[in-house]
Amino acid sequence: MMTPKSKDEMNYIVLKRIITYLNRMKKLSYFLIIALITGCSGQNAVVLHRYASVYDSIFKLNPAYLGYGFDFPVGKPDAKGYYDAQGFGQNTHLGNDWNSNSGGNTDLGDPVYSIGDGYVTCAQDFGGGWGNVVRMVHCLDTLKQVYVESLYAHLQVIQVKKGQLIKKGTQIGTIGNCNGHYYAHLHFEIRRLVDMDLGGGYAADTTGFYDPTAFIKKHRPRK
Ligand SMILES: [Zn+2]
Repeated sequence: MMTPKSKDEMNYIVLKRIITYLNRMKKLSYFLIIALITGCSGQNAVVLHRYASVYDSIFKLNPAYLGYGFDFPVGKPDAKGYYDAQGFGQNTHLGNDWNSNSGGNTDLGDPVYSIGDGYVTCAQDFGGGWGNVVRMVHCLDTLKQVYVESLYAHLQVIQVKKGQLIKKGTQIGTIGNCNGHYYAHLHFEIRRLVDMDLGGGYAADTTGFYDPTAFIKKHRPRK
């Protein structure tokens, strides 16, 4: 039979629980401070992500795909013959809508290219308003684990597979109309945080997203 615990024993147990709880909170606050510092350190913030180490090993094993510099996803390399019909931030748009200058569906089937060397993390049909989507992770800095993601949506066909390493300018698919949902165009995003949920393409909160055109212009290939 258990003897009832004395008041001192009970106090000790409660105190021990409080200390354990405070220690946990301390660890959490350290993590939050680190996340805050890295999150505020500018465009090339360290991505604290559960998959970062996976991408680290992929790129370390395949240094040929670490190339620096980005091109536009249509009319390579400079989007010649195309215009952005809905810029980043316009109507809370999280990407660019690339269309051919000739308008309408004239760009249906035009080639879409990878903007940089990288790793294909997703190549599948999501149906609905997304249709065929390709997502790629690009490594900006192996030492600091800096990654960005490019996302190409509404494709007519997908020409790459998940898990493939590809070079900048590789044709990844063609411009589509998302099974007739829209006039043909390429919805294109660049994400600062890789592997976020697909989302909805529009949001007032742009956390984790770059203005794609501004990003590409800032990171052109070295001449
Ligand atoms: Zn769009």
